[in-house]
Amino acid sequence: MEMLNNSDIQDLLALRKWLHKNPELSGKEIQTSQKLEEFLRKTQPDKLIPGIGGYGLAAVYMFDDKGPTVLVRADMDALPIQEVNTFTHKSQVDGVAHKCGHDGHSTILSGLAIALKHSPLPAGRVVLLFQPEEETGKGAAKVIADEAFKMIKPDFVIALHNLPGFSQGSLVIKEGPFAAASVGMIVRIKGVSSHAAHPEQGNSPATMLAKTIIELQELLEKKKNKFNDFTLLTIIHAKLGEVAFGTNPGNALLMATLRTFTNDDMKLLKKLSEMVLRTLAEEHSLIVDISYTEEFPATVNNKDVVEIITSAANSKDVPVIQIDEPFRWSEDFGHFTSKYAGALFGIGSGEESPGLHNHDYDFPDEIVTTAVEIFHESLKRLIAS
Ligand SMILES: [Zn+2]
Ligand SMILES: [Zn+2]
Repeated sequence: MEMLNNSDIQDLLALRKWLHKNPELSGKEIQTSQKLEEFLRKTQPDKLIPGIGGYGLAAVYMFDDKGPTVLVRADMDALPIQEVNTFTHKSQVDGVAHKCGHDGHSTILSGLAIALKHSPLPAGRVVLLFQPEEETGKGAAKVIADEAFKMIKPDFVIALHNLPGFSQGSLVIKEGPFAAASVGMIVRIKGVSSHAAHPEQGNSPATMLAKTIIELQELLEKKKNKFNDFTLLTIIHAKLGEVAFGTNPGNALLMATLRTFTNDDMKLLKKLSEMVLRTLAEEHSLIVDISYTEEFPATVNNKDVVEIITSAANSKDVPVIQIDEPFRWSEDFGHFTSKYAGALFGIGSGEESPGLHNHDYDFPDEIVTTAVEIFHESLKRLIAS
C-alpha cells in the first residue's frame, strides 16, 4: 500500500509553504500549533494534546494495548533571521524566518500521521510530538516537565534533522554521541567603582577580566588529558564598566559558550571553568557570579535504535551515511535521549543547500516522502522489537 498518495503530497507541500510563510519565534508558536492541530484532526488521532510544554502539540495514535509506545518528535519554531529569498512562499514576517527547516520537520511529522492512517501498525502506540522552543533549548525540557507528558511514557524516542551538505535524501546516523552538549555561561564580576582620577579608591575588575579571558582559553589546552572527547570554550562577549571617561569601572560581564561531546565532559568543563573564576576572584578581592543559559545536553543515540533505523533505511533503498564524529551543534532532543532509549538522525538536504541558519536557506520539499517512509518503517520495526 502506498504510504502517501499524490493528493496527500500536495496537502503536505501546501502545509509546508504555509508554515514557511507564517514563521513564529521560539515560545510563540501560536498559529503554527493551531494550523498543525487543524491538519492533524483529519487523521483522526485517538487523542490530541494541545498546549504541551507551551504551544506544543501531541497527537496519540493507539493501535493495540500490547506493544511499546514510540514518541516521534518534530520541532516547530523559526529564527530571528531576515529571509532574503524572493520565492512566493517567502516569510511574511519581518525579521523572522524558518531557517532551520522546522517547517519541514513539522510537515514530515504530519505526513507520518497520514501514513499511519493509510498503513496502521499491528500493535503499540505512537505519539507524534510537535515540540516548541527548540532553538533556545527550552522546549524539550518544558514538554517533559508538563503534567500532560506523564501519560505518554515513551519506550522509544526518535527524531530527525535535515542536514545541508549531505546528499539529498540520504540517512545520516551514528551510534553514541550524535550532537554536542552546549551551554551559555554568564559571568558577572563585581568590584567597586571610583573616580578615574583615583583608581586606588575603588577595585576595578579590569585585570581579572583580562586574566579570565586568557585563562579560560588556555584551560582546555592545559587540562586536555582530563577530558574524554572534544571540548570547546568560545568567549562570545565581554564588557567592562560603562563608556564614561571619569569612572574607574566597578563591574564586568563575560559570556562564553561551552561545548562537549559527552555530558560528563560538560560537567567537568563547567567545574574547571568555575574554579578558574573563583580563584581569580579571590586573588583580586572581587565577587563573581556564575549562571548558565540555553543548556543543551548531548544527544546520545541508543545502539539498538540506531540499528533499527539503519535497517529501515536499507529496506527502502535509502543511502546510509555513517558518520564518525558527532556534530558540534546541539539539539535539545538530548533531553529525550538522556531519559529514554532513542536516536536523532539526519536526512541530507543536498550538497548545494545553503547551511542551516543562513539567510537564504529553505527546507527541501523533495525529502519529505523519504523521511516519512524511514519514520514509518522504523516504527514498524520498533513496535516489533
Ligand atoms: Zn536551528
Ligand atoms: Zn533545527
